Amino acid sequence: MADSSPPKPAALPHFIRAIIDHDLDAGRVSNRSWAGYPSDARQGTKQSDKATIRTRFPPEPNGYLHIGHAKSICLNFGLARDYGGRCHMRFDDTNPVKEDQEYVDSILDTVKWLGFSWDHEAEVNLYYASDYFQALFDCAEYLIKASHAYVDEQSPEEMRARRGSLTEPGEDSPFRNRPAEESLTRFHEMRAGKHAEGSMVLRARIDMRSPNLNMRDPALYRIRFAEHHRTGKQWCIYPMYDYAHPISDALENITHSLCTLEFEDHRPFYDWVLERLAEGGFLRRPLPQQTEFARLNLYYTVTSKRKLQELVTSGRVKGWDDPRMPTLVGLRRRGFTAGSIQLFCERIGVSKANQWVDPSVLEIALRDDLESKAKRATAIIDPVLLEIENWPRGHREACQAPWHPQHAEWGHRAFHCTGSLWVERDDVRVSAEKGFFRLFPGNKVRLRYGFVIECSAVDLDSEGRILRVSARYFADSRSGTAGADSYKVKGNIHWVSIDEALEAEVHLYENLFTDPQPDSGEKDWLSLINPDAHRSVKAWLEPSLAQAKAAEHFQFERLGYFVADRLDHSAQRPVFQRTVGLKQAAR
Ligand code: ATP
Ligand code: MG
Repeated sequence: MADSSPPKPAALPHFIRAIIDHDLDAGRVSNRSWAGYPSDARQGTKQSDKATIRTRFPPEPNGYLHIGHAKSICLNFGLARDYGGRCHMRFDDTNPVKEDQEYVDSILDTVKWLGFSWDHEAEVNLYYASDYFQALFDCAEYLIKASHAYVDEQSPEEMRARRGSLTEPGEDSPFRNRPAEESLTRFHEMRAGKHAEGSMVLRARIDMRSPNLNMRDPALYRIRFAEHHRTGKQWCIYPMYDYAHPISDALENITHSLCTLEFEDHRPFYDWVLERLAEGGFLRRPLPQQTEFARLNLYYTVTSKRKLQELVTSGRVKGWDDPRMPTLVGLRRRGFTAGSIQLFCERIGVSKANQWVDPSVLEIALRDDLESKAKRATAIIDPVLLEIENWPRGHREACQAPWHPQHAEWGHRAFHCTGSLWVERDDVRVSAEKGFFRLFPGNKVRLRYGFVIECSAVDLDSEGRILRVSARYFADSRSGTAGADSYKVKGNIHWVSIDEALEAEVHLYENLFTDPQPDSGEKDWLSLINPDAHRSVKAWLEPSLAQAKAAEHFQFERLGYFVADRLDHSAQRPVFQRTVGLKQAAR
């Protein structure tokens, strides 16, 4: 199965849905107008908004998306889908220094791959905060004129010293009460490139004594002589995130602005910006409303973009799409489907409680998504030679197996049984422990879709490793024949015939870190990398896998789910990634 459109998981109730239901019932978000594109209140429009709600997914293009972002994507796009709304794809690209087109391209590709779209008929809701630079500037001019903002020429050290602390109030800047005209002139000079970086900032004029530090005259604009990946050198002042974000939401007519909990203390400023600008006639009501939810954290990995970047640049992983990475490109390369990630996000739910999730939850979602969709096939990933002593010389017995046990319509795969087979090392013992029913001298097992054999000997090499298994077969025991039922065996093992086995490179993965929370506390997170997180082995595949297409998913019987590598796989040189094992490995 190649990547296909994901299933739509049943929507579970959560507090954000309750808020939206309430807002819709109370009419808070009805009668909104929408010009068909972002606009401020000065460009009046009578056109009513057909979308019941508007949400947005607003990544900063300074890295690749990770599993945490998937939660936000599924939440925002999922709500828009379920409520007959729209979800905007918006790049929060107001910080020129760390952003890049490479990230923009990857983010768009990944959101599409996850199964979401920002296009709704004629409306293409793909936006860039940098397109609002002029509007943001106009709003800042207004705030200055209305004495809601001032240019502060203190040094960064002086500003810090006057900021106060959680327990002590701040102090007013000596520039706080300068005339609006003076601030406006300075602000225009800043814009014109007349002042050095760090020499002055535009600040909101709120309350230096507020118990909330975010309300102590936060900065709105800073000087940065940096080239922006979209606006080039057009600007040398850039808006702060906390100022640009609420205005971007309002220009786009966003009704529900959902963000992670660390922004809870920023909400009063979010509302302050919107209220001042609505009063000034710049923004339309109803104003967007911010609601916070808990970030998703996955055990045994890290999701901070800075740390992911460090793993890549230091060469500890092979790139952003290394299958060990929690990035969505990494998970995709590893074989996680869009459907499994959607299912996972639906299952973990949305709440305000700190959320740590075990990777097994994602693995279960993958198995649930692929169980009915992935073709079955046989691979031997740790091969041992099995020789059938009484097999007629040169004989090849045609065998077959269904592509899927529940999909008869998919037909069968064909292969042969011969006297020399590859079997899995883990299916062989010199002597059996209790409960082991597979190959050991004196025991009978069934070769899946083939014959019953009785193990006669297990030979070891000089180091005590299993070298070869010998067995005898029962010619009347073939699966699907009348005689088969008279053999009662407890073990059923997979195998491939050596004469037709395809050689393949198979990559096996474990958790990237040995510690469940590598970046919590004061840990030296880089020292907690699992050196065995990736292993590659030479495996033998059944011949029908010569037809496997890149990115096609399979269940290798008894082993787990594997995917033909999206990039490196070819019929001449098969390369598979193990996505997950069939059962949860013990930790
Ligand atoms: P980082 O702090 O690692 O740079 P970020 O949160 O700043 O990550 P953004 O690009 O700003 O990354 O995130 C885009 C959106 O995704 C935001 O709305 C953010 O709240 C959300 N998001 C990011 N990480 C998570 C997470 N772990 N769980 C849920 N949502 C997340
Ligand atoms: Mg961010």
